[in-house]
Amino acid sequence: NPFVRAGYLLAAHTPRQLPPDGGFEVAFAGRSNAGKSSALNALCQQNALARVSKTPGRTQQLVFFELPPHEGKFLVDLPGYGYAKVPQDLQAHWQAFLDQYFRTRQALKGLVVVMDIRHPLKDYDRHMIAYAAERGLPAHAILTKADKLGRGAAGNTLMAVRKDLQAQYGDTVSVQTFSGESKAGVDELRSVVAGWLGI
Ligand code: GDP
Repeated sequence: NPFVRAGYLLAAHTPRQLPPDGGFEVAFAGRSNAGKSSALNALCQQNALARVSKTPGRTQQLVFFELPPHEGKFLVDLPGYGYAKVPQDLQAHWQAFLDQYFRTRQALKGLVVVMDIRHPLKDYDRHMIAYAAERGLPAHAILTKADKLGRGAAGNTLMAVRKDLQAQYGDTVSVQTFSGESKAGVDELRSVVAGWLGI
């Protein structure tokens, strides 16, 4: 597992705090409570890796995790939307930063969108996938908390979400079921992310 040594590197609140734009990185997005931290922790076989992203003041930052021994390869945790109640002008600053990051970041190789399988494809999720698609970047949607549904219901949701996204984006978007609880689907997630990072 190339992610076991993942560790916190930095949190960027403005473009100049970003690491040099010469590496490879994969961003993780998800609505608050979707299960993004649990998915990152499962990916990296760690218990508290993504906890740092949730500390107060970090909710409007891009949190970078490095992946030793791989230089210049990062996982980037985007703040969970809806988590922070912030003043409107800060919201605008944040929106502009995120927008610029998605439009210009050369190191960004793909986007993982974490969705609760019981509430998939909300506006925020579609917005993030559209951001990636505008750049021609691949997106991988994980339908997490699949353990909360029966096999049949989980399979039906998987097919419906896949059909919806592929009608719009074709094969640049992939979808899988996942569980941070049972770790079902973690190998598939790992291989997608490692593939994008070239590790
Ligand atoms: P985040 O806000 O997107 O980072 O969400 P968290 O990873 O903190 O998870 C939010 C809540 O959902 C927590 O209570 C987790 O224990 C729970 N949770 C996350 N993933 C799963 C999962 O795969 N299965 C189940 N049953 N619960 C999960």
